[in-house]
Amino acid sequence: MIAQPGSSPLRAFLAARYGRGFATRNEIIAWQAAGLRKLRQKIMPRSPFYAAFATAPMADWPVMNKALLMQHFTGINTRGIHLDTAMEVALRSEESRDFAPMIGDVAVGLSTGTSGQRGLFLTNKRERALWAAVMCGRFWPSPLLSQQRIAFFLRANNALYESLSNPLMQFHFYDLLNPFEGNLAALDAQKPTVLIAPAQILGQIAKAQEAGQLRIAPRRIISVAEVLSPEDSAIIETVFGQRPEQVYQCTEGVLAYTCRHGSLHLNERYIHFDRDEIEGGNGAFCPVITDFTRQTLPILRYRLDDVLIPDPTPCPCGCASQRLLRIEGRADDMLWWPGADGRPRLVPADAIRQAVATLPVPVRDYRVIEEAGQLTVWLDTTIPEIAGPAMQQALHKVAAGLGCQPPAITVKRGLPPDEGAKRRRVLVKRG
Ligand SMILES: [Zn+2]
Repeated sequence: MIAQPGSSPLRAFLAARYGRGFATRNEIIAWQAAGLRKLRQKIMPRSPFYAAFATAPMADWPVMNKALLMQHFTGINTRGIHLDTAMEVALRSEESRDFAPMIGDVAVGLSTGTSGQRGLFLTNKRERALWAAVMCGRFWPSPLLSQQRIAFFLRANNALYESLSNPLMQFHFYDLLNPFEGNLAALDAQKPTVLIAPAQILGQIAKAQEAGQLRIAPRRIISVAEVLSPEDSAIIETVFGQRPEQVYQCTEGVLAYTCRHGSLHLNERYIHFDRDEIEGGNGAFCPVITDFTRQTLPILRYRLDDVLIPDPTPCPCGCASQRLLRIEGRADDMLWWPGADGRPRLVPADAIRQAVATLPVPVRDYRVIEEAGQLTVWLDTTIPEIAGPAMQQALHKVAAGLGCQPPAITVKRGLPPDEGAKRRRVLVKRG
């Protein structure tokens, strides 16, 4: 007997903590069919925009993205909240940074993607409790009733995360817009048992600990909000003696998280994933998500720009939810090189990383920037005269392996001077 999706926070907590996940694909299909029925009966009729689609085949629902969701925001949400009202509340809170943005019991979240376009998201109390239940269920250290100090690094405060506070946890929010040194001092004083931060911040924290600026011993380290690179994962593991767990989430929902074996699985308990497969990407796809749990701002057939690489082999943990090899990043940040047949081929960031790893001289760090058909490779190394030609060769080998041609390559020493907040090792600049 399969319980109904959109279940209570307690059930969500128990499933995340003790559940083994779905044993078969058929179980997932049955569970999601029930979720979809509930969505059609209980949620869609309350949304002026979606009411007419409640009885239509899913394939007829419009494919959403951030721009469309903003355009129809007032009609899509089930609480009659006007876009302007929500935006005003979100911006006011962003400026003052001292109150949680709320409209009644609805929390307003603001996201700014790399495209610079603002996205607004709404969650009611139950949706926030469900999120907290999944996170705590999966990541709360044992024993269950032990007090925890949680450090959470984020770009802006959000009532979604404050819903976590309870007598068992001392919760400290670190604003990424504050100077990093100040955050480090507070972190050192807090001595967190659970450390949650974007991947690159975790990498910086690990480096600070290594340099003796910090003495913390978290029992759980969780990477959120951006791609965890193997480089950052390695330094975190070296310094703290544990592999970071990963939660792949955005304001649109918790899309995937690591199981006890360290594999990322799609969160198919709460979200149905359609795949917009990328040509020449060998199974790589952009997810089109339908979330069964969102009641305030329904997320239906919402296409994300992230490229996911599926792992077809079953996970030893026994959970049948789709396993991911990795999250490649945003489609806009991918390198595409022309193939022999004229069609572009996706060049994974991981292939570039491996090319750097095979260089005959040590490289501390690197950046690969593609702009106007030119590839500039920055290598932080003491022996550029050997590393440069070797890198050229390695990239040509990568291209040959993928059956494509690399653009003109220039190798420079050091790292580029003007890195923005979204520091990336592989970057595509579009005009
Ligand atoms: Zn697994």
